[in-house]
Amino acid sequence: MTDTTLMSIPGQIDPVPVARDITPRADGRVDLIGLPKDRIRDLFEEAGLDAKQAKLRAKQVFHWLYHRGVTDFEAMTDIAKTMRPWLTERFVIGRPEVVEAQHSTDGTRKWLLKTADGHEFEMVFIPDADRGTLCVSSQVGCTLNCRFCHTGTMKLVRNLTPGEIVGQVMLARDALGEWPKGNMKFDYGADLDEIEESSEYRSDGRLLTNIVMMGMGEPLYNFDNVKGALKLVMDGEGLALSKRRITLSTSGVVPMMEKCGEEIGVNLAVSLHAVTKEIRDEIVPLNKKYGIEELLEACAAYPGASNARRITFEYVMLKDKNDSDEHARELVRLLKQYNLPAKVNLIPFNPWPGAQYDTSTPERVRSFSNIVFEGGISAPVRTPRGRDIDAACGQLKTAAEKKSRAQRDREAAEAVEA
Ligand code: SAH
Ligand code: SF4
Repeated sequence: MTDTTLMSIPGQIDPVPVARDITPRADGRVDLIGLPKDRIRDLFEEAGLDAKQAKLRAKQVFHWLYHRGVTDFEAMTDIAKTMRPWLTERFVIGRPEVVEAQHSTDGTRKWLLKTADGHEFEMVFIPDADRGTLCVSSQVGCTLNCRFCHTGTMKLVRNLTPGEIVGQVMLARDALGEWPKGNMKFDYGADLDEIEESSEYRSDGRLLTNIVMMGMGEPLYNFDNVKGALKLVMDGEGLALSKRRITLSTSGVVPMMEKCGEEIGVNLAVSLHAVTKEIRDEIVPLNKKYGIEELLEACAAYPGASNARRITFEYVMLKDKNDSDEHARELVRLLKQYNLPAKVNLIPFNPWPGAQYDTSTPERVRSFSNIVFEGGISAPVRTPRGRDIDAACGQLKTAAEKKSRAQRDREAAEAVEA
């Protein structure tokens, strides 16, 4: 059996338990996926290599793991043949287990995945003409219980480990057959952002070009593990995806936002969804803890935000709740008041069984969008993708037992108090 001991995270900000990042498997071997190079080096030293050997082997293994995506030490051709069984005896190269893979009629793909200790979670791939976006989960379920979100009704919650998070991206590359055969076209150690800015970067026809932390869970309640995983994704010697192609979405965990900009540096999306305290308190209960003003101030201070790198404000359109022309005008006023480099994403509500809300009419959405546009802020309406396989925003939910409304409300209140 896998060691499923959960440890609580120190500090007040994260009330969610997480599995240890190194949990030896039943046969005693350790999964290397999710570990940075220096941790791999330490493990090699602990297993008996001298310091110099451990450093060299860690560098080689890191390349094969994260840049080339191999899942077998035997494929690591620049490592001596005699060394490979030594690695195989002690370590494994894991992936989240695939329970089910579904394909939508619109090309969207959804995978139901399982952690080694039996928790199910989901990831979604959304192909477009000019890009392909992987929607990655950060937790199993979510403690925050936004009223319109299916994930918020899940009973079981634990943080995903760095390996389980980066493992989603690796699995997607496996499924899409997109591991580079050699080095990617740019040099090791090259600054991906400079390359991106100088527009020499090309996705080389790759399908998976962008990542959004918009699957299950609140990524800023699992900061360290999300950061660890995204560092591997952004490492030029690792998965080598520029931070400009990664967006983290938060429901508004204000105290972690600056740290997110400084230490991870990805694009920010904020699930705003309402412009009055009354409505946001109802639909995003975290608002009772971090209100709209505080949230928008944190956005204005977000490191790295600029007119070239705008903050995305997500706004789910709920019929007769938050979708009036007045709300649209107030949204423009607020974004201007805080001088925010903003774009607004209007998301038609995606229904799920038992939801209390309806989708706004297309006319309402259009009128709302026009007002925001006329206010000088881009406000595209997102086309729902993958609805037929419950892969659209807010529809993710695995088969965990459904909780009563009262219990969910109680837990959400506790999470807000924590
Ligand atoms: N927890 C983070 C990230 C995951 S949710 C957050 O809330 O930002 C990704 C986006 O989908 C959020 O903006 C969320 O509010 C939105 N969403 C949730 N349920 C939805 C639904 N039923 N229909 C449309 N969008 C939804
Ligand atoms: Fe959690 Fe985001 Fe869903 Fe809210 S919208 S319940 S924060 S996953």
